[in-house]
This record gives sequence, C-alpha cells and structure tokens, in this order.
Amino acid sequence: MSKTVRVRFAPSPTGYLHVGGARSALFNYLFARRNGGEFILRIEDTDRSRFVEGALEEIYQSLSWLGLDWDEGPQKNEKYGPYVQSQRVDIYTAYADKLLQSENAYRCFCTPQRIAQLRVEQEKTGQKTGYDRHCRNLNSEQIQQNLSDNLPFVIRFKIPAQREITFNDMIRGAITYNSEVLDDFVLIKSDGFPTYHMANVVDDNLMEISHVLRGDEWIASTPRHLLIYEALGWDLPQFAHLPIILSPSGGKLSKRKGAASVMDYKRAGYLPEALGNFLALLGWAPGDDREKMSFDELIQAFSIEQVSAKSSVFDENKLEWMNGLYLAERDGSSLIDQVEDGWKQRNWIDQNHLPDRNYLLRVIDLMKVRSKKITDLVDNSHYFFNDPVEYEKKAAEKHFKPQSLPILNEMIGQLNLSEDFSTASIERVFKNVAQEKDLSLGKLVHPVRLAVSGVSFGPGLFELLEILGRETVIRRLKKACSIIPGN
Ligand code: GLU
Repeated sequence: MSKTVRVRFAPSPTGYLHVGGARSALFNYLFARRNGGEFILRIEDTDRSRFVEGALEEIYQSLSWLGLDWDEGPQKNEKYGPYVQSQRVDIYTAYADKLLQSENAYRCFCTPQRIAQLRVEQEKTGQKTGYDRHCRNLNSEQIQQNLSDNLPFVIRFKIPAQREITFNDMIRGAITYNSEVLDDFVLIKSDGFPTYHMANVVDDNLMEISHVLRGDEWIASTPRHLLIYEALGWDLPQFAHLPIILSPSGGKLSKRKGAASVMDYKRAGYLPEALGNFLALLGWAPGDDREKMSFDELIQAFSIEQVSAKSSVFDENKLEWMNGLYLAERDGSSLIDQVEDGWKQRNWIDQNHLPDRNYLLRVIDLMKVRSKKITDLVDNSHYFFNDPVEYEKKAAEKHFKPQSLPILNEMIGQLNLSEDFSTASIERVFKNVAQEKDLSLGKLVHPVRLAVSGVSFGPGLFELLEILGRETVIRRLKKACSIIPGN
C-alpha cells in the first residue's frame, strides 16, 4: 500500500455503541493493524440536538472492553487534534468561508417555516421534496442587507448541474450518482455548527485519512462528500462501505430486533474476544474455513478485498456458540470477579462470608466448559451454594421411586465410610455398590445427582460430589430420602 494507512472510527454520541458501530470500528482497527497504519477515534458531536448525556463515556468503555485501542483520539496523541468536532468549529467555518469565496456555496436566509411550508407544498403537488434554491442567486446587495439585518442563515453547497459523480468503492466497485438527485445541502447550520457532511470531509482531509471504512448507510452521502473534496481541491481518500447487518428475521438490525449495545452484551455474559471474533465474521471471512480466530489471527488475515458486498445476518445462536468456545478456554481467575458479582446479586454468596476462593475457582472451572455465557455459568451453579429446595419434576418421577430408597440409603452409608472424599474414592464407592447390588452405574448416578443438585444434568458426578464435600452430599441425600414416597 503506497500511502500510509490512516483510518478512523467516527461515532456520534447520540446513544450507546451498538453492534453495527462496533463492527465498523473493528474493521477499521483490523485494517490499520494489518497494514501497519494508524487507527483514529474521532467524535462527531456537532448535532447538538441529538447529543445524549453519558453516550461518549459508553463509547470509550465499549471500545476499550472490545480491545480496540486507538492510536490517536481525544486526549491521546493529539497530533491532528482536537479529535472532538465540537472543539473544531472555527476550522469548519474557515473552510465554509473558502467555499463561499469560490462560489461553491452560498448563504441561505430562508426561515425554517418557509422550508417546512415548501415541503408541504411539494408533497401536496407530488413534486420531489428538497430545497428550491431560493437563495442561490441572491445578489451581493441582498446578501449584505440580510447580514446587516442580522438575519440568521445557513450555508449551503451549490450542487453543480448535470454532473456524473463516480467513485470506486473498494467493496462494491464503481458507484455513480447524477448530481441532479442531490439537494443543495447544508454545510453550516444557523447555530454555526457544521453538518455531518462538512465536518466529516474537512476532518478526513486534515487528519490525513487514507481510507474511509463505514457502514453502507453512508453511501448516499458519499457523492456530496466528493463534491466538497473537489471544491476544496483535495485528494480523495478511498471508500469502502461495509455491508448491512440484518436481523435473523430479516430487516435491518435494530434494538428491538436483537441489536443490543456492546455493553448489553457484556452484561448478558459475553466475552469481548468472542463478540469481536463474531463481529469480524459479519461481512468478512478469511477465505478458508476458520471461524474461531484470535485478534492476532484476524489481523493477519484481514483484507478489504474479502469483505462481501452482500448483507450479513446477526445470528445470536452463533455468537452464543462462539462465546462458549472462548469461555471454556478462559482461566478461572479472569472470570472470578464477574461471576462472583453474579452470585452475590443472586444472594448465593455473601460478601461477609465469602467461600474459599479455591472453591469458587473449582466451581468456575467445572462449569465454564458447559456454559455458553458467563450468566449461564452463574445461574447453573446454584447447587454449589444452595441445597435443592425442589427437584426437576420429570426426573424425580423417574429416579425418586420407592425402590430408589434402599439404593440411596446404601450410598449414604458407603459414602460416609469411604476413607477420603476424592473423586477417585467416590467413583470406587459407586462401582462397588453397583457390583454388589448388581445394578448399572446409571441406577446410582441419576438419583444421586438429582438428590444433590435438584437437576438431571451437570458436570461429572464424582467430581461434583468431591467439590461439594462429604457433609453437604450426605445432608442432601438424606433430605431427598425424606421426601421419597414410601419413606
Ligand atoms: N458520525 C457518523 C456516524 O455516527 C460517521 C459516519 C462516517 O464514518 O463517515 O456513524
């Protein structure tokens, strides 16, 4: 790649960072790392009416949690700073003035009422809606008069007539628009703040962005941007518009249709490396059959050429599956804080009487391999902290019959007698009893599991019993016996 790669993620703090935004950030990040370039974070906060308190902090948190560390951004390596657009208003004003001078832009004094009225009429008469260029040809006296009357104005771009505007999208190939479809769009609003189009182009140029990778909802903005580049005599960056992400039921992904915020996924028990891996595969594939890939592998394999123009589907089941793979690999100590919080919230453990850390780590190690999410791990381990108060109905009908009583009583006796309570000794007890009573191992394992856990599934029983300890196991077996019919 000839030019130094400089890419940016440019979120607007108008809400949480959703998975679509995170996918854009990730692709920029991977592209920068793959090509030895810079990944820049720029905050596009010039639409003051849509500013949401706390959104910025959540964006920083989400990116950091996903491990998408940026090289330049607010308060970081501010070589081309500031990186927050509301702090750069003078810069945009200066370039808007240039566009006024070169007659690529003009002041529009139309009131919001007039614009609204115009729209109503256009709709009524079935015309194309948009600004009617009323102020495009004001003469300089009229302009001066309006300025000295202190009339508020916006600055609009003068769209040239009958121009083919073409750009070569790295994902979609050549895309052409005719300038006739474009409105004389606003560059600077009446509050002096720039619009997205103006600020975005000025900053991409001044920050020397080489490639613009963004969601395909911005494609229609690109011809406007090209005209601004041209009017200011600037070179174009390369554009790549990432394919849309659809919900499994079809339609655009929205909060209602499953697209939660990145932080919601954290709260729901997902791991950042799993979400990152999953997002990387939304519209991109390495070209072989790999799916589970670490960040380093993703960086090695990533290329824009392999990004598909076709929409991709956000399949939450796949995300869960992938999360399970990563969860199984995680070291228990990296999970313990979050898991412990979950147990505390459920009042299963008490801050003032925390169980031994080793006990908690053993529970985590045993359960992580059979959980998809951290929240599953938390929920499914209730019996490590609580005696069962009820038993799975179907399983109880099957395994808590009168004839199970002598078996369970025999187990209580033998487990009490075994010299230690290790997995191996416990297994020996089970095998001996099965042999003596001429029963299959299952006839012992199922009722005992149900008695100690209340459920019919879980980790290997002998290990489970070892972790629970003799006292708890015997107590729970006795309790189960007491409720079995025929006792
Ligand atoms: N501020 C825009 C957004 O919120 C950035 C679009 C772009 O990357 O050009 O997504």
